[in-house]
Amino acid sequence: MNDIKLALLGSKGAGKSAVLVRFLTKRFIGEYASDTNSLYRKRLSIDGRQLNLEVFDPCSQTSESRCILEEPVEWADGFVVVYNISDRTSFLNAKNILCQIKETRGGETCKGEVDVPICLVGNKQDLCHSRQVSEEEARAVALEHKCHFQEVSAAEDYLEIGNLFTKLMRHVMEH
Ligand code: GDP
Repeated sequence: MNDIKLALLGSKGAGKSAVLVRFLTKRFIGEYASDTNSLYRKRLSIDGRQLNLEVFDPCSQTSESRCILEEPVEWADGFVVVYNISDRTSFLNAKNILCQIKETRGGETCKGEVDVPICLVGNKQDLCHSRQVSEEEARAVALEHKCHFQEVSAAEDYLEIGNLFTKLMRHVMEH
């Protein structure tokens, strides 16, 4: 049995809990009390391998709360970094978080050559009429940081969210 630990990072309101709840239950929960650190566990099977997945959903991070990030960044095998496509500030915060993960995991700079399994997730794709971050820009940031990238809507979609977690867990298993 493999244990996989993922941490869910991003600004408050980006939809981290909604993405996670969608993945774990296939449902969308509109309002979810997420002001505390939470740890979720799920048993699942990928490519015939049994896995114990643990997902840490810490209090939301702002650009000022660097120290809060250290614990989940040291604990996790992989990261889901969520921003809201209709909120540019959450995207800028996600970029900072990518740098902090790289630096904490041994990179000299945020673009250092550290292979850390990360998926950058642009949530609230259903709000594309008020989009503030283009898919191209986010894809370029993901390429720069050598991480996966996916736009999703926790409100409307399960498939892409399931796929992104599967892709990330495969990366962790190969790591
Ligand atoms: P967190 O603070 O990052 O954990 O964010 P939440 O999961 O609590 O979501 C913040 C707000 O965004 C809530 O009102 C959710 O209902 C809403 N929300 C989350 N995901 C989506 C989405 O994909 N589309 C839309 N329209 N709203 C969403």
